[in-house]
Amino acid sequence: MSMSDNLIRRRERVVCAGVSRMSDLTAGSASGATLVDLDARSFIDFAGGIGVMNVGHGDEDVVRAIREQAGELLHASIHVATYEPYVELCEKLVGLLPHGKSTKAMLVNTGAEAVENAIKIARQATGRAGVICFTGAFHGRTLMATTLTSKVSYKVGCGPFAPEVYRLPYPLVRQDRGDSADEVSRRELARLRSALRDTVETGNVAAIILELVQGEGGFNVAPQAYVRGLRELCDEHGIVLIFDEVQTGFGRTGRWAASEHYAITPDLSTWAKSMGGGLPISAVVGKAEIMDRAAPGTLGGTYGGNPVACAAALATIRRMESLGLNERAAQQGDRIRERFGAIMQRVPEVTDVRGLGAMMAIEFSRNGDPEHPDAALTNDIIATCRESGLIVIPAGVDGNVIRVLAPLVITDAELERGLAILEESISKHTTQPAQAGAKG
Ligand code: PMP
Repeated sequence: MSMSDNLIRRRERVVCAGVSRMSDLTAGSASGATLVDLDARSFIDFAGGIGVMNVGHGDEDVVRAIREQAGELLHASIHVATYEPYVELCEKLVGLLPHGKSTKAMLVNTGAEAVENAIKIARQATGRAGVICFTGAFHGRTLMATTLTSKVSYKVGCGPFAPEVYRLPYPLVRQDRGDSADEVSRRELARLRSALRDTVETGNVAAIILELVQGEGGFNVAPQAYVRGLRELCDEHGIVLIFDEVQTGFGRTGRWAASEHYAITPDLSTWAKSMGGGLPISAVVGKAEIMDRAAPGTLGGTYGGNPVACAAALATIRRMESLGLNERAAQQGDRIRERFGAIMQRVPEVTDVRGLGAMMAIEFSRNGDPEHPDAALTNDIIATCRESGLIVIPAGVDGNVIRVLAPLVITDAELERGLAILEESISKHTTQPAQAGAKG
């Protein structure tokens, strides 16, 4: 039996099934954009541990910072004693991600925790309870975050959910339907305004939480006009606008924040994943006057902003700056969009290519009909990729999307090789038109 098979067997014996397993892949070590399994097989990593490794696996500066900090101070708890890395990271975050005139931050451990704390802050700042969220949203697996999450298979049997959460359709702009971004924005803003009359009273809405590009939801990109309208509506009614940038943040879209593409400042935002370069750390960043409305004792936790995780985040941010990873993400995104676009031209089952910056995805549907999302085909393609040495992961409420979350340090040659494997795997499982360019 292979080392990998053996580990999977041991996992099955002691790890419960609710901790989902996408495949039998094991991880022994990793470096840059390459992951090596327990049987010494190498894979090009287009998953990055679910969008965490933008700075690459095993970055020397990040690893050194972790080692040095571990030798200095492993843990103190920010509630007990103030330490340098926590304060320095908050200084860095408010500098990189300004929220208006004066910005403050707080640190926790996971994306879900950042979301929980953002909602608590919004509720305390407004004295209101209601939260509006969207179809296709993913905000994590704690109770409020699960409630805000849309995909039913992530929530099955987990209720009762948190009260005072209202869900509206995400402003989806579909190429295949010939949607106009402005028309979708108008329609969905009108729907939101009418929800404030027939679903939840304005005076009870604390916050609206939005992913500018949905992560687990399949890389749907919110249109500019909608986000502008949302900002206006929140200003008009004193509603806290929260952008969940857990998956979009720290270079993934070619900027520190996806909100930079929109030139819209939220009141609060949530961050995790690639901010920590692999260690668990997350943040809520926001307008100081809102952040400071939360009463002492209502936020945080024992481990929030652990010194070693802060040191990892600081080193990660420095590396992203010195390597120019935002620029590299933009270039990679262009290349992936081009390749995916060519595949879509040729392969009937590919019904959409979408994303922002290096956050790119490709969608599969049965007989090329977007009304029939094809998760089985998507999974077959993903399995064939893995056999050929490429790790990719799915997304979308219907599981029919493949998303690219490769480390941004990936070399051009690795990126090309990974895209070639993906293309070959798609070809293997899809209809091949008689002549090239057959798709109308
Ligand atoms: N928000 C978004 C947008 C996410 O993509 C995720 C994780 N996929 C989360 C929140 C939850 O983060 P975590 O898994 O670290 O709790």
